[in-house]
Amino acid sequence: MRVGLTGGIGSGKSTVSGMLRELGAIVIDSDLLAREVVAPGTPGLARVVEAFGPEVLTPEGAMDRAKVGAIVFADPAQRQRLESIVWPLVREASQALAATAGPDDLVVHDIPLLVETDQQSSFDAVVVVDVPLETQVARLVGDRGWAEADARARIAAQATREERLAAATHVIDNTGSIDDLRRRVEELVVELRA
Ligand code: ADP
Repeated sequence: MRVGLTGGIGSGKSTVSGMLRELGAIVIDSDLLAREVVAPGTPGLARVVEAFGPEVLTPEGAMDRAKVGAIVFADPAQRQRLESIVWPLVREASQALAATAGPDDLVVHDIPLLVETDQQSSFDAVVVVDVPLETQVARLVGDRGWAEADARARIAAQATREERLAAATHVIDNTGSIDDLRRRVEELVVELRA
């Protein structure tokens, strides 16, 4: 069974994936893999340099994320070019990790932009961590110290709450306390294993 986990920024998705790990699930983190596949010395980074030039490297030979970000943010074609390098490598790496799981392991793919990248159909279950927009803003401002305008802009750049809920097979309401959340995650594990 392939399980995808997603949620808008500040919804509590990382908190949920941490709880799932504590409960013994194998959580495959696509953001982490997206960094690993372009780490110094990887074929992925070589392809990024081929596409964007050596100026996207730091003096230490790592990918300069700010420079690459500026290039792809300004130009959708460049962004697509980067994604066409990184995404297949991430998919390959996550499949390799999933292949190491035993038959009784619960494998969860943690993918922040699962809905935005239209991957829902490749999962048997899509778990969405859900809060109202104002709760996202309050947590990003209160816990992460973001400026409110930045929080709203980041949220607006993602799928809407409704779009995410439409893709969900399982919803985790995270409007309560952390203890409420943990109980809900425990319930979810039982539901997913059933
Ligand atoms: P995401 O990964 O979706 O961006 P996080 O899991 O990092 O979100 O959560 C965003 C912030 O909200 C974190 O500081 C986290 O500790 C806090 N948080 C998550 N769930 C709750 C909750 N139920 N009550 C209070 N704070 C929470």
